Amino acid sequence: MAEAKAFDPTDCCVIILTWDAIPQRCGMVQFNTIPYLEDRGIPRANIHSVCLRWIPVARNWAIKNVGLTSGKRHIVMIDNDMPIDGKANPFWEATDDVVVCMAGTAERWSFANAFHSGMFRADRRVFEDIEPPWFDLPASADGTVQTDCTCGYFRDKAVAASFSITHAGWCAHP
Ligand SMILES: [Zn+2]
Repeated sequence: MAEAKAFDPTDCCVIILTWDAIPQRCGMVQFNTIPYLEDRGIPRANIHSVCLRWIPVARNWAIKNVGLTSGKRHIVMIDNDMPIDGKANPFWEATDDVVVCMAGTAERWSFANAFHSGMFRADRRVFEDIEPPWFDLPASADGTVQTDCTCGYFRDKAVAASFSITHAGWCAHP
């Protein structure tokens, strides 16, 4: 595995997912998200929003059609309802193939390679090396029980492909 590159704000593509399944939030972004990203040195032209309904399809579509086609090295995904402030700063300083900003209870992050996708970034190599779909919603064989979140599906594929996941910084998820 090649060395993961330190984050370069000018060589990143930020995708904000604005889920059209949630009428109150469709197309909307937290007020401070864009100024925060610009404060981190990310040019406005590198920040995109994608408004699609089905969670795994929205993530896969955005990675394929926005992240990878951007030509940028670092692909960042942020849910539109993530309130982000200075507690998230270590997220940008960590160096790994996949870096995730923690949200929710500490217990969700208590094991190695724990991953939830409210705010994360990955080196483009991760998506180039792993066969899509990168995200899916795992269910029991008969389709009656959801067995993991879409994040768990990605985590398992990333770890199987020998990528590692670093947890850094905190953002809240309402
Ligand atoms: Zn999750």
